[in-house]
Amino acid sequence: MPDRPGKRPLGIFGGTFDPVHFGHLRLAEEAADSLELAGVRWIPAGRPALRASPQVTARQRLAMVRLAIADNPLFTIDAAEVEADRPSYTVPTLERLRQVDQCGRQQPLVLLIGADAFAGLPGWHRWRSLFDLAHLAVAQRPGFSIDSACLPAELASCYRDRFSASPATLAESPAGRIVTFTMTQLAISATGIRGLLAKGSSPRYLLPDKVIAYILTKHLYPEY
Ligand code: ATP
Repeated sequence: MPDRPGKRPLGIFGGTFDPVHFGHLRLAEEAADSLELAGVRWIPAGRPALRASPQVTARQRLAMVRLAIADNPLFTIDAAEVEADRPSYTVPTLERLRQVDQCGRQQPLVLLIGADAFAGLPGWHRWRSLFDLAHLAVAQRPGFSIDSACLPAELASCYRDRFSASPATLAESPAGRIVTFTMTQLAISATGIRGLLAKGSSPRYLLPDKVIAYILTKHLYPEY
């Protein structure tokens, strides 16, 4: 029997995760809590479409995410984008998740993104189709505003039309709404971590020890 709206929504969290860090983990944890999600499915990008090639392989980024989320029963991983070995775009990824053997048409899906990624949404491939496939939950991130006055005009108007102040709305339909959520503000970025590694500084307490151990064992970021 197909899923019906009213089920707890499933969070979808895509990213490059080069490497995964505590900003990502808190975002997923706090989204699961404040949006009452059934869980969060992490989807590491194979080849990210909108940015320079990551320094480590897709399989190594996937392995780091696996290590980081291993102890959390609410978190699962989807390796399909990594295995596909082609550029990853969010709309085709969501279309794949909507197939009957995956989440189906009715399960509420909530794409989790940081405020920086949200502001760049109009640059995404077929970005308007995203709202036929999922809701969007935007997390605050230090240095980035979610104020519609600061967004590109086409996104500001979409935001005004689709915004809901109540996370409970997410369970009422499969897709189409935008909510925001507060999270512990962590000025941690993968860029910053790679910068520390490049100059031989310690990244400790910015990402899980298990991920740091993996980076060291595999000599992933050669300068470290
Ligand atoms: P980079 O510095 O290489 O751009 P990143 O740290 O932003 O990487 P991504 O893998 O690009 O990490 O991010 C995946 C998602 O996580 C994006 O939606 C991004 O906005 C969000 N995100 C990453 N770090 C944070 C953070 N510290 N606080 C809130 N959101 C974050």
